[in-house]
Amino acid sequence: MGQATRTTKLPLDLSKRTQGGANTGKRAYLEATVEVLDAARAFYVAFFLTHQEKLSERVPYFSEKHQEERERLISADKLLTWAEFQTVETKEHPDPLPGWNFSQTFPDFPFIYRRAVIKDAIGKVKSYLSNLSNWQQAGKKKGKPGLPGASNHPALYEGAFSLELSGVDLQQSFVRLKVYTGGRWIWVNYPVKYSRYFEARRTDQEWEQQSPKLVLRRKAAELHFSDTKEIKAKKVIESKRDPDLVTVAVDLNVKNLAVITVRQDGKIIETVFVQDHGLDQHRYRHLKHISKKQWLSGKPVKGERSNLHLWQHIRQMNRDAAHKTAHAIARVCARYPGCVLILERLRKIKARGGSKSRRLNRKQANQLRGQINRLSKGKAFAQGTVTVEVNPHGTSQYCSRCGAKGERFSLRAGQRVKERGGKLFRCEQCGYEVHADFNASVNVHHSFFREYHWRPKPKPTHKGGSSP
Ligand SMILES: [Zn+2]
Repeated sequence: MGQATRTTKLPLDLSKRTQGGANTGKRAYLEATVEVLDAARAFYVAFFLTHQEKLSERVPYFSEKHQEERERLISADKLLTWAEFQTVETKEHPDPLPGWNFSQTFPDFPFIYRRAVIKDAIGKVKSYLSNLSNWQQAGKKKGKPGLPGASNHPALYEGAFSLELSGVDLQQSFVRLKVYTGGRWIWVNYPVKYSRYFEARRTDQEWEQQSPKLVLRRKAAELHFSDTKEIKAKKVIESKRDPDLVTVAVDLNVKNLAVITVRQDGKIIETVFVQDHGLDQHRYRHLKHISKKQWLSGKPVKGERSNLHLWQHIRQMNRDAAHKTAHAIARVCARYPGCVLILERLRKIKARGGSKSRRLNRKQANQLRGQINRLSKGKAFAQGTVTVEVNPHGTSQYCSRCGAKGERFSLRAGQRVKERGGKLFRCEQCGYEVHADFNASVNVHHSFFREYHWRPKPKPTHKGGSSP
């Protein structure tokens, strides 16, 4: 029931010619292509904004199911044909709408690219109009949606690109792209950094590869292939009826990035700790450095990014940790086919109090938890595991064995020190002492099965006739 997606990136080789890369001229063509496509998209965004009534036109059709004439919203394909008719000059149709002659403004524009930008423009204007009407209905003053922009990573459909693989020697592979030189459109070969990783993904029978997007960055260019796969998975309600259902619960934390517990028939049958290997400390050191630099240099200069490389490094570390953790979670799920993955709905830990670097570090930890959450959902779904998000309330405060409220503490030099966020958990009621994050992870199962503290409250019965 549904579709899993993933992105496979193929970098173009833009290193020096002598090292086998594309030359600077070719690099400039890519930029010119993106630029002219943006301009064409801007043309059609403006075109649809001036003809917005067409986007909401209702057209008649014959419904086979009901055996009668019905009406529905005009389809994107019909809109595309209509827009081409209005703007493109052909032999049979030499006079497009005055002021909207695309063929004159963009001579020899490949039709594959033209269709791609028209579709992009339709999507952009439609989403702008729906945001606008939502905003008008909400009656707010602030937050008026801005007009749609025209830039996008261009999609390369068949006819605008082809992948030429030499098979034996992976170094010899290249892509053929239709690019704009600034004056005309030509086919150009670009060497790519083809790898075994890409080869494995491309030939993976389970996934279907879609048309790539050209992503141009300051120093790099990549083709992003989006792969899709149809997933057949049971609905959670159905799974929940199975008495032997296996549930995999995850508690996301800072030092223990994830504590994964697996439960079947009311018993925990496997536990996996994913540690951060000093990431938190490492990140904190960098952030201390950053905040000190900011303090020394006073107000930040507008429009100037400071500590660019340091931030890149921090983001890279976070991303890496997120992928590894999500992978570990998906690996556990893969061992129990048909299991359900349970995550907590993320609440933000407020980054208040402490030094500036501390607050920055909390923010980064939150970001990381969000990334792990998102990635593990995706990775698990790709192998057929469905995810449920549950109420996180109190998972770290209640005893996972008897359900009573307990306390957190740490051991310092053999002494028990009661403190918020302590490493250990103790239940006053039953005397259970356990690792606090493990306790929280087990509670996530309780929250899913609505046990103990997570039992739904009985609906308040309405007492009538007692209003003062
Ligand atoms: Zn207890």
